[in-house]
Amino acid sequence: MKKSTATATAAHPASVTIDGLHKSYGSLDVLKGISLDVQPGEVVCLIGPSGSGKSTLLRCVNLLETPQRGRIQIGDVEVTDPDVDIDAVRRRVGMVFQQFNLFPNMSVLKNLTVAQRKVLGRSESAARQTALHNLERVGLADKADSAPAQLSGGQQQRVAIARALSMDPELMLFDEPTSALDPETVGDVLSIMRDLAKEGMTMLVVTHEMAFARDVADRVVFMDGGVVVEEGLARDVIGAPQHQRTQTFLSRVL
Ligand code: ADP
Ligand code: MG
Repeated sequence: MKKSTATATAAHPASVTIDGLHKSYGSLDVLKGISLDVQPGEVVCLIGPSGSGKSTLLRCVNLLETPQRGRIQIGDVEVTDPDVDIDAVRRRVGMVFQQFNLFPNMSVLKNLTVAQRKVLGRSESAARQTALHNLERVGLADKADSAPAQLSGGQQQRVAIARALSMDPELMLFDEPTSALDPETVGDVLSIMRDLAKEGMTMLVVTHEMAFARDVADRVVFMDGGVVVEEGLARDVIGAPQHQRTQTFLSRVL
């Protein structure tokens, strides 16, 4: 329903296919055979207790971690192919972390242009134009010349989102993007993510914001102990969870 009003402005939203993914650190099995399909333009929220492997899963998708077994495909590129061009994969995937990771010694504008220049080879004026467009999108065009430290946490996170969008990603990964924010700034960040979803971006979002997951996600995936315990429509998984572990988790966070 939500998608019928969408204006698909995400350049080429990608699909994601994860099949039988295993990741361990030494003897610690963190992901124990995760399979998940995300359609182009779909928003999938990953929920689950701390330590269940949510961050590790996202980090495998953009090759910050190398899984031991299983496949990940983004669009028609198999990113788990040992011969894959890792930089080419990362160019297509935007990631936003709990800690915004802005470059503290660069202006907001410079934060948005540096990777466009170095990685995409854009001219200074093209990078600047894209940066200003994306700052406008997140409502911070007037902060282009500020230093990150002059901004609130919520504003810094909006800059981090604008920075990721400036690379024209086909897929956006969010790892608890609002968990480190003051409560009064959470809403602004969520509302930008809501806009992105409406615009047709493919999004994988780890979040504890159940209202956001219920309203914005097409599907919700509940993970526990390195496996997908339950997945389905947001209203079903959050509103009427079938598994005891999902019920217990939700009773703690809702
Ligand atoms: P979540 O994001 O769901 O809280 P994580 O994916 O961060 O879970 O972590 C899952 C498990 O993997 C945890 O037990 C964590 O301690 C462990 N882990 C994560 N990263 C590493 C690492 N680099 N080395 C060793 N263990 C790790
Ligand atoms: Mg995590």
